[in-house]
Amino acid sequence: MMLSYHQIKELDQEFGSSFYLLDINKLRNNYQKIDSAFKRRYQNFIIGYSYKTNYLPYLCSVMSQLGAYAEVVSRLEYDLAIKIGVDPRKIIFNGPLKTFEDIEIALNYGSILNVDSLYEMEDVKNYSEKYTSKQVKVGLRVNFDITNNGENVLQEGFDRSRFGICTTNGNFQDAVKELRELENIRIVGLHGHFSTRERKLETYENITKGLCQLAKEYIGDSLEFIDIGGGIYGELPASFKLNAPSFDDYAEAVCRIMNNEFQNNERKPYLILEPGISMVANTFQFIAKVIGTKRIKDKYFVLIDGSVHNIKPTMHKRNLPMQIVKQKVTGEKYVSYNIVGYTCMEKDYLAYEINGELPKKDDYVIFENVGAYTIVFNPPFIKERPSIVAACNNEFFVVRKKESLREFFNEDLYIFK
Ligand SMILES: *Cc1c(COP(=O)(O)O)cnc(C)c1O
Repeated sequence: MMLSYHQIKELDQEFGSSFYLLDINKLRNNYQKIDSAFKRRYQNFIIGYSYKTNYLPYLCSVMSQLGAYAEVVSRLEYDLAIKIGVDPRKIIFNGPLKTFEDIEIALNYGSILNVDSLYEMEDVKNYSEKYTSKQVKVGLRVNFDITNNGENVLQEGFDRSRFGICTTNGNFQDAVKELRELENIRIVGLHGHFSTRERKLETYENITKGLCQLAKEYIGDSLEFIDIGGGIYGELPASFKLNAPSFDDYAEAVCRIMNNEFQNNERKPYLILEPGISMVANTFQFIAKVIGTKRIKDKYFVLIDGSVHNIKPTMHKRNLPMQIVKQKVTGEKYVSYNIVGYTCMEKDYLAYEINGELPKKDDYVIFENVGAYTIVFNPPFIKERPSIVAACNNEFFVVRKKESLREFFNEDLYIFK
C-alpha cells in the first residue's frame, strides 16, 4: 500500500509512532487466488489457514469469513478459533503436543484431528473406551522420505522430519492396525506437512503422491481427505529475485496427481492445503518514525522507533524491501547508512548499508512483507508492543491497541511487592 507522508503522520498521531498496517484487500486477494487456483483444477478443495503464522484474531476472523478452515497446533490456538466463532467442524487440530483433554474436546466437537505420533494413540484409545457409543474420525500425520533425486530438501538440511508417524519402520502400519481394532474410530485422512528450503513443485508432487499411495493401500474407502500441509511460496517482492512457483504452478502439480489417483472414485476425497506464509507475509507492513541520525567514525546510523524484533524475529541479515517516506524531499547526495532499533543490543539492525539520501528526524521507514512469523514470534522486549492497524478501502481501524504498562505487566499475573 502506498501512503503519503500526511497519511502516515495522521496514523502516527492516532496509533503511535510505530505500528503495523494490515492490508485487508491484499489478504482477501491472496485467499481468492489460492482458492481459485486449486478449485478450478480440483473441486473438493479446502484451505486450512495456519494460525501459528499470524494469529491476530481479526485476521483469523477474516479468514474464517472467507471460508478458510482454522489449522491450529495447540489448545491455545484451538480455543482462539472457538472464541472467534469458527465452526468446530472447520478446525483442523495438528501439532505434536495434545493432552487427553484436547483430544477429547476436539473429537467431541467434531473437529478434524490429525494424530501426530504413537504416544497420542494411547489417548485416542482411551477416548474410544470412554465414548463407546460415539463414532469418531481421525487423521494420521505421516512421516516419509521426501528426498528429491538424492537431495535433502528439508529446512536446515535435516535428513528427516521429526513429525508424524514413520511409514518406513512399521510404526504407521502398527497404528493403522491398532485403530482398526477400535470399532468406534475410523481413519479418514492422511496429513503430510514438510518445511522445505526451496518449496519446489517436485516436493509437492512427492508429498501428494506419497499420501495418495498410502491412502489407497491403508485407508481405502473410508478416505475423506488428503492434507498436504503448507509451506508453499506466496507472491514475492521482485527484489527477492527468486524464481518461485506461482499458486497456479502448485495447483497444477498437486491437482494433476489428485485427479489421476482418484479418477475412479465416485466420492473424491477433499484436498486440504494449509498455507501460512503464502497467505499473510505480504499483508503486513511495519511503519516506524525516524528518531534521529548519528555518525560513528565514518558510518551513518538511523535510529527508528522500532526494533529488529518487530520485523525479523529470527534476526537474519538480509534486508527486507522497504521505503522511506520523507517529510521533505531535499535532493541531498547519497550516503550509505544502517537502520537500527531502540533496544540495547548491538545486533539490533533493521537494515544494513542502505544507499540513499540520509533519512531525517520525523521521516518514516516502511518495511514490507512482515506478516508471517513476526507478531507471533516477537517478544515484547524493553518496550510495549506497538498497535496493529487494519486498512480497508482507505479506512483505517485498530485491530490491536498499543500495549500499556498495565497490559505488559498484567496485574493478574505479576506480583509487584
Ligand atoms: C507451520 C505449519 C503450516 C504453515 O506453514 P507455512 O510455511 O507458513 O506455509 C501448515 N501446517 C502445519 C502443520 C504447520 O506446522
